Amino acid sequence: MLDDEIGLLLKAVQFASIKHRNQQRKSCEAIPYINHPIEVAVTLWEVGKVCEITTLVAALLHDTLEDTDATTNEILEQFGEEILYLVQEVTDDKNLSKQQRKLNQVESAPHKSTAAKQIKLADKICNINDIATSPPCNWSIERRQEYLDWTLKVVAGLRKTNLALEKHYDVTLSKAQTVLHSIRS
Ligand code: NDP
Ligand code: ZN
Repeated sequence: MLDDEIGLLLKAVQFASIKHRNQQRKSCEAIPYINHPIEVAVTLWEVGKVCEITTLVAALLHDTLEDTDATTNEILEQFGEEILYLVQEVTDDKNLSKQQRKLNQVESAPHKSTAAKQIKLADKICNINDIATSPPCNWSIERRQEYLDWTLKVVAGLRKTNLALEKHYDVTLSKAQTVLHSIRS
């Protein structure tokens, strides 16, 4: 990895950690939000063997536009056009209702760039693992199941992109299904 790539990666960790500094994941334990984008980037690197710096940086920034006060201008100035475009590709349109956003993710998945598809795959892997191991506090089993079912529809549109990530999604989903099944019985 080149020096300026290491610099960009460190800058992205710093930017995301500042932007998410007051946020936690929705789980019952107090998990700092920044753990999630870092986990998504690590999943891309370790499981997906993704080494494109733009993809890894965009993974670290993937929830900043959607969930913090980060602006497109800030990302453009600090990380450039290509990374901004990728972050925008994985950002939901907040003008839409929650239900519409869910549908939009399913419908738009096949039309994303390869890099955006890889980030979305890693994001869904991390989220379904959280749904099994540290779910949002007040979610019923039915709601957790509904979330798993919805990710299957999104991931259907992301396949034939990165086989290792797709297989890891399938294994993680199967483990999450087993956890929910064991709680039910
Ligand atoms: P979301 O589905 O948007 O919440 C899940 C998102 O929260 C994830 O995609 C993830 O996004 C983030 N997240 C943060 N912490 C966790 C965690 N510990 N585990 C997993 N994900 C986490 O929930 P909404 O509240 O926005 O509801 C959306 C939909 O749910 C609506 O369409 C509604 O129809 C439905 N709903 C169903 C109910 C039911 O009981 N069945 C009740 C209410 C709503 P990120 O990667 O961006 O962090
Ligand atoms: Zn995410």
